[in-house]
Amino acid sequence: MTATLLDGKAVAQQIRDELTSRVANVKKKLGRPPALAIVLVGDDPASEVYVRNKLKTAEDAGMGVHLERLPGATTLADVLSVVERFNHDARFDGILVQSPLPKTLGKDAEQQVFDLIDPAKDVDGFSPISAGRVVQNREGFAPCTPAGVIELLVRAKIQTEGKHAVVIGRSDIVGKPMAALLLHKNATVTICHSRTRDLPAMAREGDILVAAIGRAAFVTPEFVKPGAVVIDVGINSVTKLEDAQRIFARYPDRLEVFRKRGSVLVGDVHPDVAATAGALTPVPGGVGPLTIAMLMANTVRAAELRSR
Ligand code: NDP
Repeated sequence: MTATLLDGKAVAQQIRDELTSRVANVKKKLGRPPALAIVLVGDDPASEVYVRNKLKTAEDAGMGVHLERLPGATTLADVLSVVERFNHDARFDGILVQSPLPKTLGKDAEQQVFDLIDPAKDVDGFSPISAGRVVQNREGFAPCTPAGVIELLVRAKIQTEGKHAVVIGRSDIVGKPMAALLLHKNATVTICHSRTRDLPAMAREGDILVAAIGRAAFVTPEFVKPGAVVIDVGINSVTKLEDAQRIFARYPDRLEVFRKRGSVLVGDVHPDVAATAGALTPVPGGVGPLTIAMLMANTVRAAELRSR
C-alpha cells in the first residue's frame, strides 16, 4: 500500500482564501483589518523562522500585524507588561507570544504569560480559559495545530465518528487539545506518552494515529495499523549526516536536500510509514501550513467578535 498524501498546504490555502471576504467585512466594520500583535523574546533561530512565516502570511492575507521584539535578557515583568499593554490596545484583535520563551525567564514564565493574555485575544488558544473551553466543546479559540488537524480531516472527508484515534503526546498545546477535539468529533481516543507501555502495540490500535512527540522519525511502520490515517505533527531538523542517511536511506531526494542545505526536516513519523498507512501528512507541507492558517482564522474570528 502507498499512503495517500494529505496536502496540508492546499487545505491551508483554501482556509486562507475563505478568509478574504471576512477580512474585508471586518475592515468595513472596524475601519481596519483584523490585526495580530506578535511578541518575540530573544533570538531563537527556529522561532525567527516561525515568526517570519506568520508575519508574511498575515500580510499576504491583508491583515494587520505588529512585531514586538524583546531582547533575550528581558525580564518576565517586561514581557508581562507588553502583554498587558496589548490586552488594552484596541488596535489588536489577537496576541501571540512566540514559544519557547528563553529559559532564563524561569520555569513557569510561559504559564504566567498565557494566564495574562485576554481570552478574547488569545488566538493561540494557550490560556487556561481557552483550554477549558476546548475541553467543554464551547465557543472559543482552540490551539492552532490541533484545530488545523481537524480542518484537514474534515476537508479530506476522513471519518472520525466511531473510529479509534491514538494521540502520541500530551502537551498542553498539541496532544491534550488534539485528544479533546477528536473526542468532540466522536472518535474514541487514547492518549499515549513517554510512560506508555508497549507504545507500538497501543499505536497500532489506531484507525487514526497522531504523532506529536518531537522525536525525528520515531513512529516506524510497526506502530501503524495497515491503512490507518497518520497525522505527523512533528517538525524536526536533522543536522547530522549519519542521521539523515539512516532515516532517508531509501529517499535520495531528501538526502539531496540535506547535501544542499546541511539539514533536512523530518516529522515524528518515519518515511517508511507511507507503505503501511492509508493516508499520511507529509513533512514539510502537512500540519505546519495548517497551523499558520488557523492562526489567521482565529485572528479574523477574534476581530469579528469585537466588531459585533
Ligand atoms: P512537547 O515536548 O511539549 O511534548 C512531547 C510529548 O511527546 C510529551 O507528552 C511526551 O511525553 C511525548 N513523548 C516524548 N518522548 C516520547 C516517547 N519516547 N514515547 C512516547 N511519548 C513521548 O512537544 P509539543 O507537543 O510541543 O510538540 C510535539 C512536536 O510537534 C514537536 O516536534 C514540535 O516541533 C511539533 N510541533 C509542530 C507544530 C506544527 O505547526 N506542525 C506546532 C507545534 C509543535 P511525556 O509527557 O510523558 O513527557
